Amino acid sequence: AIETLYEKDGSLAPLQGKTIAVLGYGSQGHAHAQNLRDSGLTVIVANRPDSANGKLASKHGFTPTPVAEAVSKADLVSVCLPDEVQPGVYEQDIAPNLRDGQTLLFTHGFNVHFKTIDPPQNVDVVMVAPKGPGHTVRWEYERGGGVPALLAVHQDATGSAREKALAYAIGVGGGKGGILVTNFKDECETDLFGEQVVLCGGLSESIKKGFEVLTEAGYPEELAYFEVCHELELIINLIKRGGLDYMRYSISNTAEFGDYYTGPKIVDDASKQRMKDALTHIQDGSFAKAFRDDYANGFAWFKKQRAENAGHGVEGVGKELRRMMPWLNPVELQDGKAVEV
Ligand code: NDP
Ligand code: MG
Ligand code: MG
Repeated sequence: AIETLYEKDGSLAPLQGKTIAVLGYGSQGHAHAQNLRDSGLTVIVANRPDSANGKLASKHGFTPTPVAEAVSKADLVSVCLPDEVQPGVYEQDIAPNLRDGQTLLFTHGFNVHFKTIDPPQNVDVVMVAPKGPGHTVRWEYERGGGVPALLAVHQDATGSAREKALAYAIGVGGGKGGILVTNFKDECETDLFGEQVVLCGGLSESIKKGFEVLTEAGYPEELAYFEVCHELELIINLIKRGGLDYMRYSISNTAEFGDYYTGPKIVDDASKQRMKDALTHIQDGSFAKAFRDDYANGFAWFKKQRAENAGHGVEGVGKELRRMMPWLNPVELQDGKAVEV
């Protein structure tokens, strides 16, 4: 079992009286900045002041500054920028302003592990990666809980890199959910695998293909949406609370029998082999290269996928049905922003 730490195993002291600069006020940044501030630490935020996120930071009582200025003022620099923009911002605004003994903190090991960012020897390089979307990181903290987090030390220049990372992890609420001590390689590769193969890629394609099969066979779209998408949350909640066996205990015998009877025919050994191939592409850096290359090409492929996926049938009927269920607190994307409807 890997080392798991809780609030009692550390303290906020290593960061008290220090300045934490959170770079970016997006999904992770807005949660980290507010949670750390509510934990009593001193936080400054770097963001473009006039963007939607910049305005949100101002509304939340921060004064968004340029990245270079925030790095100059900070003892700990938390890089909450999109992975693809980090190398450019690092070269231009972070690296030239780094000082001896500062701490550089990442929320995902991607750039350090794949060596697209190579920090100097004189700074600590650590990671605190909450295992949940940024909005959940904030929401859980506000209700007194915390999303579990991974902690790693890549480089310990000061001898206290780990204590500072632990203080940060506690400050964002990770100490309530559990802080798992790992390394950049394991965090990065398992995170990419999970999101590509199961959580995001595998799940999205299962939903889409399940919806296609039912509607192409003539069943109403609404029925298909409920069966292959809406009910997922109920199943996931059961699994989250009690594992697969509790989920199977709760569903009907018919459903449980069908789970064993049909499941392995859908996700079979050939699927498992493709999962292994996906892991190989993550480990050998070819996924990271594809991501970098498409970014260098204006994310042309990425944007095409996003547009095509937005037009899928399951999205259209889903939108209509969710509008009829206001208790779900439905949101819709409008011009790239999530808007409550
Ligand atoms: P977001 O896309 O939500 O936020 C990005 C922020 O960075 C925005 O505030 C944006 O500012 C700013 N930004 C974008 N481009 C630039 C630039 N060129 N110069 C300066 N600022 C810029 O990012 P995420 O929170 O999703 O991801 C941040 C990190 O957290 C990544 O390493 C990711 O892997 C990791 N992570 C993310 C999780 C998540 O839940 N999303 C989960 C765990 C880890 P502006 O408003 O001006 O556009
Ligand atoms: Mg990820
Ligand atoms: Mg059923």
